[in-house]
Amino acid sequence: MAERFDVVVAGAGLAGASAAAAAAEQGAAVLLLEKNPTPGGSTVLSSGLNAYAGTDEQAAAGVSDSVELLRTDLLEVGGHRNDVTLVDAYCREQLATYRWLRGHGVTFGPPLPGSGQSVPRSHPADTAAMVEALLRAARARGAEVRYRWAVRRLETGGGRVTGLVAADRDGTEHRIAAGAVVLATGGFSRSPELISRFAPRMEQAIKAGGSGNTGDGLRMACKLGAGLADLPYVKATFGVFPWPNPAEEGHGLLAVYKGAIAVNGHGERFTDESLPYKEIGDACLAQPEGIAFQIFDAPVLADANPNVPIYDFEPRLRAGQFQQAGTLAELADLLGIPGDRLQATVDDYNARIAAGEPDRFGRRTLSGGVGKPRPIATPPFYGYPCTAVLLATYGGITVDAEARVLDVYGEPIAGLYAAGEVTGGFHGAGYVTGTSLGKSAVFGRIAGITATREADR
Ligand SMILES: Cc1cc2nc3c(=O)[nH]c(=O)nc-3n(C[C@H](O)[C@H](O)[C@H](O)COP(=O)(O)OP(=O)(O)OC[C@H]3O[C@@H](n4cnc5c(N)ncnc54)[C@H](O)[C@@H]3O)c2cc1C
Repeated sequence: MAERFDVVVAGAGLAGASAAAAAAEQGAAVLLLEKNPTPGGSTVLSSGLNAYAGTDEQAAAGVSDSVELLRTDLLEVGGHRNDVTLVDAYCREQLATYRWLRGHGVTFGPPLPGSGQSVPRSHPADTAAMVEALLRAARARGAEVRYRWAVRRLETGGGRVTGLVAADRDGTEHRIAAGAVVLATGGFSRSPELISRFAPRMEQAIKAGGSGNTGDGLRMACKLGAGLADLPYVKATFGVFPWPNPAEEGHGLLAVYKGAIAVNGHGERFTDESLPYKEIGDACLAQPEGIAFQIFDAPVLADANPNVPIYDFEPRLRAGQFQQAGTLAELADLLGIPGDRLQATVDDYNARIAAGEPDRFGRRTLSGGVGKPRPIATPPFYGYPCTAVLLATYGGITVDAEARVLDVYGEPIAGLYAAGEVTGGFHGAGYVTGTSLGKSAVFGRIAGITATREADR
């Protein structure tokens, strides 16, 4: 006879750990299945920035934030393509989720500014500790967690999801009955097939994210008729070294936000470098071979910040990822780009700054609305080759504000819930820093609560 649980959760990243802990706290008999030998997925590889508004850390740092401002940012950055009900659910539940996480021992650092945030709202946290704290909470309420168990397909009967089939560590398949199933299997950044089908512009990007992020939950939900949202807006992040070593996979450098320009292999600029890093990523992937060079000078290097990975120049300098030269012509030679073009590009850029004229790509600030562009004139000059990296896939299956999976007609698929990167609709056309982890925790918790309430017992 098949085993039976009230709620079975697929995937032990932040969304799955949140769902399992919340469901167990609601009194459900919970089973969490993770196909990898360890928990965490993309969550534990991430930069650990979490977008919450109205927090104690913001208050301590003198940052004045509000749910209204958060909502405005989410909708504006999302180009008003977001599912407003999901944005509203995030806004409604985010502070309670933040407090719930803290209640489980999660600690957050002082808020940092982030792309698309009107005020500093990126709360750094140790994501491995966060997942572990939630798994501990789930286990303490009787939840069972199994590693090297891969969910393969969903089972249905009587018009609802009734369970699933999962393969254990030996590959033996087991049928497991469930009152409700929560898909928290992450995105599909590790599936070349799904990338070429849903986000072909990303084929050239470097792929990062958890090794288990092969879109399993997306396929399983699609098989039952789930709708899809936000897939046309999957974007990669600008600034990673094109030949990364595994230790730094996915973590880039954004000298552009300190005053660098980005040029292509012809030595020409191609974008407003103050734009969000995902928009620069799109522009970069459209350049020859998807490669750009961040060009800057001594004052930019001196403005590094070792506490913020995207502004931490020193390790890259030591690793030989920068080229350094006394003149732009020498730098161009080292980078293998035409020196006369690079010189002309920098001269044009500097002249417009000196004249106070609008930049030819509309650049008026260093990053977002902050800082004034500065001339690139003080040697030594530096060049950092880079490209864009697909960290997460952002779009996915449609859900409602209670994390129920919706079919292509917008009707709930009874017994099926989803949270985290496997879902779409929340981000719309753009991404605000910290909202992927935020979305995983907020909707993971919602999914655990709803699944428990609606589980077929
Ligand atoms: C380098 C990097 C930096 C990032 N930085 C940030 C950041 O600072 N802030 C932010 O908000 N976002 C960031 N992101 C994105 C963010 O980390 C992810 O979107 C988020 O962690 C997704 O959480 P999740 O729980 O949905 O998925 P994951 O954490 O990926 O977990 C999914 C889990 O499901 C498992 N799984 C998959 N298929 C199955 C199956 N069939 N059966 C069982 N288990 C399965 C996987 O193995 C995995 O463990 C970053 C991502 C990367 C890669």
